[in-house]
Amino acid sequence: MKIIIVGNGAAGISAATAIRSVDKKVEIQIVSKERDAAYSLCALPYVVSKELTQKYTARLDKDFYKQLKIKTVFGSPVCKIVPERQSVILQNGKSFSYDKLLIAAGARPVVPPIEEIDKKGVFFMDTLENTKKIMNYARKNRVKKAVIIGAGFTGIEAAMALKMHQIDVVIVEMMDRILARMLDPEIAVEALKLLKSTGVEVRLGSGVKKITGEKNASGVRLSDNKLINCGLVMVSIGVRPNIEMINGSDLQVNQGIEVDQYLRTSDPSIYAAGDVAETPDYLTGVKTINAIWPNAVEQGRVAGLNMVGQETVYDGSDSINVLNIAGVPIVSMGQIEIRDKKCEIISFRNEKSFRKALIRDNVIVGFESIGPFRQLGFIWSCIKKKTDISDSKEKILRDNFVPVLQK
Ligand SMILES: Cc1cc2nc3c(=O)[nH]c(=O)nc-3n(C[C@H](O)[C@H](O)[C@H](O)COP(=O)(O)OP(=O)(O)OC[C@H]3O[C@@H](n4cnc5c(N)ncnc54)[C@H](O)[C@@H]3O)c2cc1C
Repeated sequence: MKIIIVGNGAAGISAATAIRSVDKKVEIQIVSKERDAAYSLCALPYVVSKELTQKYTARLDKDFYKQLKIKTVFGSPVCKIVPERQSVILQNGKSFSYDKLLIAAGARPVVPPIEEIDKKGVFFMDTLENTKKIMNYARKNRVKKAVIIGAGFTGIEAAMALKMHQIDVVIVEMMDRILARMLDPEIAVEALKLLKSTGVEVRLGSGVKKITGEKNASGVRLSDNKLINCGLVMVSIGVRPNIEMINGSDLQVNQGIEVDQYLRTSDPSIYAAGDVAETPDYLTGVKTINAIWPNAVEQGRVAGLNMVGQETVYDGSDSINVLNIAGVPIVSMGQIEIRDKKCEIISFRNEKSFRKALIRDNVIVGFESIGPFRQLGFIWSCIKKKTDISDSKEKILRDNFVPVLQK
């Protein structure tokens, strides 16, 4: 049997490892558009800040593939999958047939409709190769000021990384708050104060309509016509699954590729995992893409095992995000918006922290916090296990709360 895995990232590597752990014979071939051995996308902000060298960001060396007897075809994207012929076609014209296929091609940045966005000096922090170019360009062009478009998780990480090189940073965000997918408005205000305390300037409720400059970016023109001069622009407004390769096929797609509880697509010989796959959220059951590393790794593992006949059910993706601004942890878990009238919010605030939990029927369904909190692990366990917290509701968010044994 021959298995092809499209994608050499978190889900693809996890699938290959799981397959090899139970089947020493099956042929595994990883096809990936990038030339690098697998590395962690989570480390890219540290590549910008230079806190980590490539030695540490490269997760695997080439021996990994040899040891696990994995064939690799790196450096050309898959442009088409033909399920009827069980084959994948690469942009370089090569094609390979498979018995089972895993699509683990991840996601790519959304490119906003901004005039002249293809100018030199406009970057996306999406691959190791593109990320390395950012500081090379900044150094070569003596960049003193950068604009980041988008105040989400990666935009903020990028801002702080650039600040470490004494580059002034302005973040331009269309919404009225930062980290809008992670925090509610009140906690987002506190996060904004923290971000500003690092020297990052933030323009909320502002859109960029044009990148200015001759050949190279020299600024951004906002929708209200104001100009911000800068030597470098980074775009970070979200990601979109890499699913063009299945265009024209009958595979069912919604936001991402639809899969069943075994991560099998609507074609029984094709599986999908990671940022391309739409899976149920563990807490709500709603199908979505919770695009974080641990979800991709677990989905890869489950898909891999199922592909070699080890029936394994995927029980849903976690929605959890952790960010650090100025050394202060910011955490969001589960739901952050009230979805129905049964929900109530409890909160706790002191000079160092602000915490909120969303509770439905005495069960925590969402939690967010800024500042240190020793009971994060306990809260996450309550959310996942749907623990009844009626006995501790008054004190569960307090600094001095300690979980007690249940009778
Ligand atoms: C800058 C950044 C920081 C992040 N930080 C965090 C973090 O701190 N914590 C966290 O949990 N998550 C973080 N994430 C998200 C996390 O990295 C992703 O959710 C995770 O990597 C998804 O894994 P994946 O295997 O689905 O895709 P990826 O890891 O993106 O791998 C996709 C693979 O597919 C290949 N590929 C793409 N298109 C094709 C094609 N057409 N043909 C062949 N190969 C193709 C790519 O080259 C790559 O090898 C971050 C993401 C980014 C971009």
